[in-house]
Amino acid sequence: QRLAQNMEKEKKPLFENTHVIVVGSGKGGVGKSTVSANLAVALGKLGYKVGLIDADVLGFSIPRLMGIVGQKSYALNEHMIIPIEKYGIKVISMGNFADEDTPLIWRGPLLGNVLEQFMNDVYWGDLDYMVLDLPPGTGDVPLTIMQKIPEQNFILVTTPQSSASHVAGRIAHMAKKVNIDIIGIVENMSYFECPDCHKRYNIFGEGETEKLSKELSTDILVKIPIDIQVREKSDTGMPVAFEDSKQSKYYTDLAKKVVE
Ligand code: ADP
Repeated sequence: QRLAQNMEKEKKPLFENTHVIVVGSGKGGVGKSTVSANLAVALGKLGYKVGLIDADVLGFSIPRLMGIVGQKSYALNEHMIIPIEKYGIKVISMGNFADEDTPLIWRGPLLGNVLEQFMNDVYWGDLDYMVLDLPPGTGDVPLTIMQKIPEQNFILVTTPQSSASHVAGRIAHMAKKVNIDIIGIVENMSYFECPDCHKRYNIFGEGETEKLSKELSTDILVKIPIDIQVREKSDTGMPVAFEDSKQSKYYTDLAKKVVE
């Protein structure tokens, strides 16, 4: 109880002195969560104190990506939830309160409460960066988050193919409308490079993300190729960004741009 009281006292206003990086996408399956997790880990490797909020409350995938499936977050009291620490990152996800296989059927207002709790009632301590993985698309949750957190920066994750559809730009336009700074675009699954002959194949097309970046007057921060390692390591809870490798370089580059 004393510990809880002391921790309560130490609690700071919402993310004071913390840079909040919100990661969004027009639709699911483009690699948004993979980018969020690896960005958080890459920022941690640069020496920053980093938190990761899985705001995709219903479709959470951060526990799997961070290798914390089955671990439970616990609470000292109702206003003091302790985040799980992995790879040096403090993580909170609905997945660590519910079973992965249990479907969550919640309504909007309840969802809002969960996110508010993730932001207000978690003992984050001092953080330099908070990476927030949004649910895909432009629903109520992304909008609420964009309106609630005072200072935040937005990263759009897209594939060359999804850049071509208007869906990708819509969430970025929404961010702009509520005056959120867009740091830039991550083009994921950009191309496949043959490991033997090093020839590049633009599997999902090319050029569309450049058009999108012009339309949004923002930069393409990094182009991340399709890579078996990224997929395999993500599935086994070992973010590629954690160890130095050819693949981790993309996320380190991204983290460095975010820090700039
Ligand atoms: P989203 O969060 O946009 O729904 P995920 O991050 O869950 O997407 O990624 C969808 C799938 O694509 C996952 O299986 C993930 O491992 C895989 N993936 C993401 N980025 C890459 C990449 N650069 N190369 C290969 N597979 C990737």
